[in-house]
Amino acid sequence: MSEARRYQQLRSHFSYLKLDNAAEALPRILDQARAENLSMTAALERLLEIEVNATEERRLAGRLRFACLPDPWTLADFDFAAQPGVDEKLIRDLATLRFLDDASNVLFVGPPGVGKTMLATALARGTAEAGNRVYFTTAADLAARCHKAAVEGRWATCMRFFAGPKLLVIDELGYLPLPGDGASALFQVINQRYLKSSTILTTNVGIADWATAFGDATVAAAMLDRLLHRATVVGIDGPSYRLRSHQSTSDKLRKAVNAHVS
Ligand code: ADP
Ligand code: MG
Repeated sequence: MSEARRYQQLRSHFSYLKLDNAAEALPRILDQARAENLSMTAALERLLEIEVNATEERRLAGRLRFACLPDPWTLADFDFAAQPGVDEKLIRDLATLRFLDDASNVLFVGPPGVGKTMLATALARGTAEAGNRVYFTTAADLAARCHKAAVEGRWATCMRFFAGPKLLVIDELGYLPLPGDGASALFQVINQRYLKSSTILTTNVGIADWATAFGDATVAAAMLDRLLHRATVVGIDGPSYRLRSHQSTSDKLRKAVNAHVS
């Protein structure tokens, strides 16, 4: 076989195996191998590393598309100094993702604007970057989706969907009243993930008030029982980040008025 034919054959092997990035890099790596006098092992390693990196990037992009995260936040975007109500050490410990290993849950509890969604999103992103399947939803969307599935006879498929991800984020529990069968759908999702995979939940409803928020004390108790059995509860009781600029504007205004009066 001539060298030219062998080269064509090699290219067609790459394309048959769909190693497109390696195929594209092939001429460059062969040139480098000649110029730098690389060993065969070194050249092959360099070539396949290109394909591996591209595959990793593609898979991560796919996982992030699937995850439906509301924003591209990472923990680096969270300003701990601006939120004294958050225990930074605890959040950094959660960011090691140890909680995924024993299927522990994380509950972010606090008033609006304190960064619950942001922290949940950052942990979810870290989980996806570590190679896991993640899905982000709100409690209201989850309830609506389960309700639709039940009506259309796809309940089992819907339950399988929510059982699948290594990490499920359920945002904003308690902001909106859940529709009729919403609490029971939520309970079933939590129950089937219990001890198998982690769930992060954010809520503005203090745990003591769950029974009233759900309308059904029995379901609330059963759900809390599953959720809290292995869980980290992160209470955030600080100032609203959203209202920060309003706060400083109104503070300035007040000072100006007071100065004028006195
Ligand atoms: P919550 O879910 O508790 O209502 P969010 O996570 O949605 O609050 O935060 C509200 C807004 O304030 C978002 O735009 C978020 O990025 C921002 N924010 C909140 N806390 C912080 C913080 N500590 N550092 C930086 N941005 C923050
Ligand atoms: Mg939120």
